Amino acid sequence: MNPLYARMGTTIFEAMSARARTRGAINLGQGFADGTGPAPVLEAAARALLEKSNQYPPMAGLPELRQAVADHYARHQGLNLAPDEVIVTSGATEALAASLLALIEPGDEVLCFQPLYDAYVPLILRAGGVPRFVRLEPPHWRVTRDALDAAVTAKTRLLLLNNPLNPAATMASAEELALLADFCVAHDLTAICDEVWEHVTFDGARHLPLIGFPGMRERTVKIGSAGKIFALTGWKVGWMCAAPELARALGKAHQFLTFTTPPNLQWAVAEGLVTQDGWVAETAAGFRRSRDRLAAGLHELGFATLPSAATYFLSIDLAASGIGRGDVAFCDRLLDEAGVAAIPVSAFYAEDPVTSVVRFCFAKQDATLDTALERIAAARAALAR
Ligand code: PMP
Repeated sequence: MNPLYARMGTTIFEAMSARARTRGAINLGQGFADGTGPAPVLEAAARALLEKSNQYPPMAGLPELRQAVADHYARHQGLNLAPDEVIVTSGATEALAASLLALIEPGDEVLCFQPLYDAYVPLILRAGGVPRFVRLEPPHWRVTRDALDAAVTAKTRLLLLNNPLNPAATMASAEELALLADFCVAHDLTAICDEVWEHVTFDGARHLPLIGFPGMRERTVKIGSAGKIFALTGWKVGWMCAAPELARALGKAHQFLTFTTPPNLQWAVAEGLVTQDGWVAETAAGFRRSRDRLAAGLHELGFATLPSAATYFLSIDLAASGIGRGDVAFCDRLLDEAGVAAIPVSAFYAEDPVTSVVRFCFAKQDATLDTALERIAAARAALAR
């Protein structure tokens, strides 16, 4: 077996979910929502399964979905993408894999920001790239010019950005994005932007795509996921958007990864993007209420939370909560003593981890959050020890 895979554990999400099942715990670890998604989208998928073709759809995706994605970004983010600049993939994960395989030459360096989504480093390494890390820290997790300058070398080719950022729950500001755009242009970098959380944003904050910044239109791959937009994480329908020359390279990698994505789900996502803007906005408002409910409950129990501007996640700062132990030990204890699963944020660092932050998923029904809070309250003394 390749030593990289031999050394690799199961992902923290899978491992925590498995432990949560065994323990009968409430799972606030893995990031999936409790709801069922928008009914018209589910009905469209069922109808398409019975009434439309179930044979290979076009490699780059159904034309209707590519058009719907382009229109969606014109409406929401003021972008001018043509449908043939959109390639449909089997989730954002496949889009990330295709982008990295298509754009990395062996030895190329890829700038990425820690904390990072767990798929990034293995994919960069398997594509022959070398990850270079910019370390972000709580409470603000902000990018600075000095940190970028310290990480870039003559071999750097790509910048891999997750915005909004899971697990930090932050959104990059216009100033940070302008800095990143300027930096990419100055060093001739291509940006791969994982924007799967672009619609799960709160308190009126608007997602700004890096591809819309000066100099970035021709050098950015913008990645999205219907799984996040419609809270249907199991569907694994995503896409990557890029200018024609980049899109051609991405398409070549995609054709030998999955080639296509189930056509009925593509039809349904196309319909959802056209008809479900209201559902998406209402759902984000519901997530905000859930965030506030969990935050209020945690505050009452004496936990200090970090700001959550986007994503399904809210984190506690252990040190500021008067807890001396590290995040992994705290999560173990939380599972054993309280029967609640959470994710230690150190799992999102490849080196030099932040160990004082624990992430909770709040995209759950009120009753689930309330029971989790009751359980944490009952174990609060044991958790502090
Ligand atoms: N990137 C990030 C930052 C994510 O949080 C997730 C899902 N949790 C993904 C990619 C994967 O998206 P998909 O399920 O569409 O492959």
